Amino acid sequence: MNISQFIVSTALALIVAFHSQTNAAEAEWKAGLATVKITPEKPLPMSGYASRVKPYEKVEQDIYAKALALEDNRGQRAVLVTTDLLGLPRAVAEPICERIREKAKLDRSQILLSSSHTHSAPTIRLEERADPGMAPEDARNIVTYTRGLQDKIVEVAAQALARLEPSKLSWGSGIAHFAMNRREFTPRGVILGFNPRGLADRSVPVLRIDSPEGKLRAALFEYACHNTTLTQTNFHLCGDYAGFAQAHLQAQHPGVQAMFMIGCGGDANPHPRGTCRRNAADWVGRLRRTRHRRGRASIGGGSECQTRRAR
Ligand SMILES: [Zn+2]
Repeated sequence: MNISQFIVSTALALIVAFHSQTNAAEAEWKAGLATVKITPEKPLPMSGYASRVKPYEKVEQDIYAKALALEDNRGQRAVLVTTDLLGLPRAVAEPICERIREKAKLDRSQILLSSSHTHSAPTIRLEERADPGMAPEDARNIVTYTRGLQDKIVEVAAQALARLEPSKLSWGSGIAHFAMNRREFTPRGVILGFNPRGLADRSVPVLRIDSPEGKLRAALFEYACHNTTLTQTNFHLCGDYAGFAQAHLQAQHPGVQAMFMIGCGGDANPHPRGTCRRNAADWVGRLRRTRHRRGRASIGGGSECQTRRAR
């Protein structure tokens, strides 16, 4: 499936970054981690394509909220929560931040909520409003889910802040080639298509969190591209490329928390786009063959990446 294209690209970038990491140094940071599943208990209408108003048909992959709390050597703390969601509207996000702020004695500026912008996630809202074609029961279920989601995000942030322990931070950057500028210039004007000459940021920045002994604990990575590998024909809940990349990394490194943040990718779509049907192994094989032909970095091999200790 197309999603795997990114999984492999990102995983390779991460693994290469890990292999080329600079020497260990004394821990100057504390980090705390926590994860909570946010897959709805009942199927809900999905967000991201207005034409879809019926609930999803299948959970292709569970979705999560993941928290990373950090404290520097001066005792300054901050918490980041990433989510496999299209976005968190202000009306939903601000009450969450207020509760975290009170619970953890943080300023608002020390709290960052983030979404992967997957278009294969549930709709979120607090007002019971049925879009045209949406069943009233589904509108009610969306509100119930959203309230529960708020509780879960507050709790996962609090858990991460309660688990701060000495850690080492380092960062690096890889590359994944599938982001494509989607502003296509035509005689009839600009349309949502694809523009190979247009700008796209294809870097994959990575923040790595290790124990003081050098054991990998978490990896936060970013890519500047809508999570729209799957189109409006998709009725399977999942995190799109970012969700599969996180799952792949966690499978490769059991016990590690993989987290994704969307970059400045408003003009970029994955290319190509498609369905969940393509065999993942097929893409793995294609990518490996391509990389070997080009003499680029491979697993455990040379590096396109540079890493730095975080300060
Ligand atoms: Zn989008």
